[in-house]
Amino acid sequence: MRPIDRGTIPKEKGIDKTVSNYTHWRKDLIDRIGSYCSYCNMKITFSPQVEHVSPKSLDPTRKVDWTNMLLACGPCNLTKSDKPTSHTTHLLPDMHNTHLAFAYIEKVFRRKGETYDGAIAIPSTSLVKGSVEETMAKATIELVGLDILKVNNRATDYRWKERYEAIIHVRSARQCWGEAPKKDNMLIDNICFQAQSRGFFSIWYRAFEDVPEMREALIKAFNGTSQRHFSQVDYLPVPPIV
Ligand SMILES: [Zn+2]
Repeated sequence: MRPIDRGTIPKEKGIDKTVSNYTHWRKDLIDRIGSYCSYCNMKITFSPQVEHVSPKSLDPTRKVDWTNMLLACGPCNLTKSDKPTSHTTHLLPDMHNTHLAFAYIEKVFRRKGETYDGAIAIPSTSLVKGSVEETMAKATIELVGLDILKVNNRATDYRWKERYEAIIHVRSARQCWGEAPKKDNMLIDNICFQAQSRGFFSIWYRAFEDVPEMREALIKAFNGTSQRHFSQVDYLPVPPIV
């Protein structure tokens, strides 16, 4: 999960912007962090939902608070709904180094006699079992349903499919990189463009983690990726998670 920095309150005519409706932050959020779901990291091609980290029903004083806003896809927002959410109980992309906390794995599953290829998020295997980080990672997966494998006729939640297709796409891009005779800027730009078009930052980053120029390029290709969670020298992720 990409760690995010939404930055300070946007300015309007030189002073801190105020809004009467939280949806009025949408453009600012897209400008700052890109049109991606902050939780599943899927690219959102049309109008991402403005999401309250701490739910507005439980925390009405933060209903239009810039520091409480992220962007979400429908399934993440719907699953999260008004569940209590905090930076002390959950790993959250606007606070923690969430890139280090999760892994994405393929999962074949069956529904009504059909077999499907999907992918889910799990706590990173580098986390110590029973540790605070692992407990918080599990809570986040549960919060937004990053392990849901769901099939219905309305296709309301295809995150498992998008995630799986991203893994396959990334694998192919990595193979192309390996076989390319010249690793030049055009190739780097091309891979970054593919990554931006699909989303799932952490899946791309991890596949190219051994390539310093790709680490740097991917971090820069995704606006609003938290600078403090990646070294500005070698672009490797910087612990701790919490
Ligand atoms: Zn999502």
